[in-house]
Amino acid sequence: MRYLSTRGDASRPGFSDILLEGLAPDGGLYLPDHYPQVDATTLQRWRGLTYAELAGEILRLFIDDIPHADLDRLVRDTYTPAAFGSPEIVPLRALGEGVFVQALSNGPTLAFKDMAMQLLGRLFEYELGRRGQTLNILGATSGDTGSAAEYAMRGRAGIRVFMLSPHGRMSPFQQAQMFSLQDANIHNIAVEGVFDDCQDIVKAISADAAFKRDRCIGTVNSINWARLLAQVVYYFAGYFQATRDNGQVVSFAVPSGNFGNICAGHVARCMGLPIRRLMLATNENDVLDEFFRSGQYRVRGSSETLETSSPSMDISKASNFERFVFDALGRDAARTADLFGTQVARHGGFSLPAHEFAGLARFGFVSGRSTHADRLATIRRAWEDHASLIDPHTADGLKVALELREPGETVLVLETALPAKFSATLHEALGRPLAMSPEHAELLERPRRFQVMAADADAVKRYIAEHT
Ligand SMILES: *Cc1c(COP(=O)(O)O)cnc(C)c1O
Repeated sequence: MRYLSTRGDASRPGFSDILLEGLAPDGGLYLPDHYPQVDATTLQRWRGLTYAELAGEILRLFIDDIPHADLDRLVRDTYTPAAFGSPEIVPLRALGEGVFVQALSNGPTLAFKDMAMQLLGRLFEYELGRRGQTLNILGATSGDTGSAAEYAMRGRAGIRVFMLSPHGRMSPFQQAQMFSLQDANIHNIAVEGVFDDCQDIVKAISADAAFKRDRCIGTVNSINWARLLAQVVYYFAGYFQATRDNGQVVSFAVPSGNFGNICAGHVARCMGLPIRRLMLATNENDVLDEFFRSGQYRVRGSSETLETSSPSMDISKASNFERFVFDALGRDAARTADLFGTQVARHGGFSLPAHEFAGLARFGFVSGRSTHADRLATIRRAWEDHASLIDPHTADGLKVALELREPGETVLVLETALPAKFSATLHEALGRPLAMSPEHAELLERPRRFQVMAADADAVKRYIAEHT
């Protein structure tokens, strides 16, 4: 399997070459040069597999430069009931007629990013070991991504993490989760500033090519292909749990931000998984809902990007969206380069002509949006009608699923975080505080290890230089 860039770069790297990379050299995103097709016999055979076995089967279709035995070992070590809380790894629970919640958030940081990041940590360690290289991961976080990355990379050979977060601005739970890590290869840097300051520092350091090279600086952002690939697996696993035979079809409702999660659903559907519809849910930051209703993609400025009660979906543009548009336009790289390299940069977006927009229907996407009031009402309804506690992001997905579901349709709502992470909103919705689990209470009491630093790229560089 070779990979290509959505903007037409002529090189055709293999999986291992793009594993540790971000963007393609031309600024595009990597995609496989074709989607392997899963026939009925294969689908039937996969039905009986464990999650780790299924992951091994799917990954090997896209990865031919890591021996199968090694790949199988990596997925077996990753997807264990001990790490993810149940033998199914991504269990379903029914929430009324034709609606299921698929739990993706029972990993170490209680958010679905663990599903991919836990595997990525092992893949990175494996590949760096093969190459005799080290990697210093530099990132900025306002919460979920940073903690998932740290829990995936902690204690791994050849890897250090330098994670910048805005001092005193993460939730108490998120701070406890990240700062309680005592592993020597994890460095938490609390920057005196806001999230944008953290991101600016990362950009400034990444722009210093010499420093980047000398200190082996890399990232683990949401456009990484391996992350997306790992997410394809749970669409298959959810389908097998919700159906008895391969004649049945299901739909998925996906709380979306950077379009990574739902893009994995698109890949699964392109491989032949019987997915009827992919229901994309946004919060008030509705750039993607607007696109799927109108064909207009309009990137928001930072003043237009709202802080909401489903904060992990507060995006101004969707970094993985280019992958879908590339497929939707018949893999026309010149067109994609024009839309994302030129139109977005010059005019802040683009509008697809009506005939092209109409052609997108074959990919099964539909969309909806949710507000703070919707979120609260949906959390309350799930609790009162089904005794199920859901987090605000999952509530966005459920709200849209209930709105779009047609009679007889089976919809799996992807649960992207656990309610314990967002207890203030749960309190507001239910009118009472959530009971805190003993593990949660214990986490808040653990000793913390972090470094407070001014919002100054040179100070952060000095710190990295002293610790690498
Ligand atoms: C990251 C995240 C999302 C958005 O996922 P994308 O892949 O960026 O679309 C939704 N919910 C939660 C809880 C998240 O952490």
